[in-house]
Amino acid sequence: MSSETKSGVYLDHNATTFVRPRVIAAMSDVMSAPRNASSVHAPGRAARELLETARAQVAALVGADARNVIFTSGGTEADNLALRGFGKRRLLVSAVEHGAILAPSLLIDPEAEILQVDEHGRVDLDDLEAKLSRVEGPALVSVMLANNETGVLEPVREVARIAHRHEAFVHCDAVQGAGKIPIDIGDLGVDALSLSAHKIGGPQGIGALILHHDMQVDAQVVGGGQEKGRRSGTENVAGAVGFGIAAEEALAGLSQAEDLASLRDDLERRTAAIAPDRRVFGEDVPRLPNTSCLTMPGVKSQTQVMAFDLEGIAISAGSACSSGKVAASHVLEAMDVPMDEAMTAIRVSLGWNSTAADVDSFVTAWERIYCRSAGSVAAA
Ligand code: PLP
Repeated sequence: MSSETKSGVYLDHNATTFVRPRVIAAMSDVMSAPRNASSVHAPGRAARELLETARAQVAALVGADARNVIFTSGGTEADNLALRGFGKRRLLVSAVEHGAILAPSLLIDPEAEILQVDEHGRVDLDDLEAKLSRVEGPALVSVMLANNETGVLEPVREVARIAHRHEAFVHCDAVQGAGKIPIDIGDLGVDALSLSAHKIGGPQGIGALILHHDMQVDAQVVGGGQEKGRRSGTENVAGAVGFGIAAEEALAGLSQAEDLASLRDDLERRTAAIAPDRRVFGEDVPRLPNTSCLTMPGVKSQTQVMAFDLEGIAISAGSACSSGKVAASHVLEAMDVPMDEAMTAIRVSLGWNSTAADVDSFVTAWERIYCRSAGSVAAA
């Protein structure tokens, strides 16, 4: 299967990706019968078994113990639970976090510390050390594994080492890294991490907060005491089954990373041949194999998104969650990218079913849009 959709070529997999065929088949099967995993009768016990198998599959994606997987409604809820679920703490979060971390952080702790990043968007470890030294009382540091806009990898191991030296709790939003790079919660050294099913070929509306060790979490959704009292609400059995299968396939698909990176590199090489002054953010540092955040000199991001859309190609300007508002991305701003350059950046993100033909279509359209725009600038 290619990422050709009925409406064209899909290169926005960081926003959401195709649901894998095995996931659709399994979920449809699960939904053909009543499944309440808390019921004690036979159908309920069967639902519980499905749920626990899924929990083990999700845990395996990040080398965790299945008992420490808390299913949530998605990455956003998992991030919120991490920030609120471990008692009142001074929050320290990086300037390039997703809104699912930045927005609640400032609500929960108006004095939250925003950690500076370097020109590639990587957390400044000296700044972390200095800010942690000034904190009196318990702290929580949250730094993402990979940036959703640029794909740049954060130095999470080092962050965890420094934070633990200061006895802070460490959370990592691994929503974009999962299924693209190997993850082992113990090796990363974090206390908790967040995942989202729809970024790895599972359904929307389910995610997980995964703990390194079994520990108390202050539930934010309270009711029937599901998920060992850590997150109430009738369990989303079909969603969990889909998430579990997606996790299993994503783990097996990690061996595809080099192929994806070579498609991405080809795309970047060919756009550089057309416009040598186009810029790729994060190209000199470790980043996800599927993501390219690149400028088209002189052409505004929103104009590009519309022009690509007319060509039948789906890409985004920065993060999908912030599209629709014409402002420079907070990620590029934190990286000190000049405003006029940041306003010409788009994000291209490949996925588990992307092909060389998709890249060909993109580059052909990129050249057409660039030449047309350069022509109109020259004529003006
Ligand atoms: N964290 C990151 C880094 C993301 O990219 C996203 C979604 O784009 C989220 C969290 C939110 O996840 P969800 O869409 O499952 O709520």
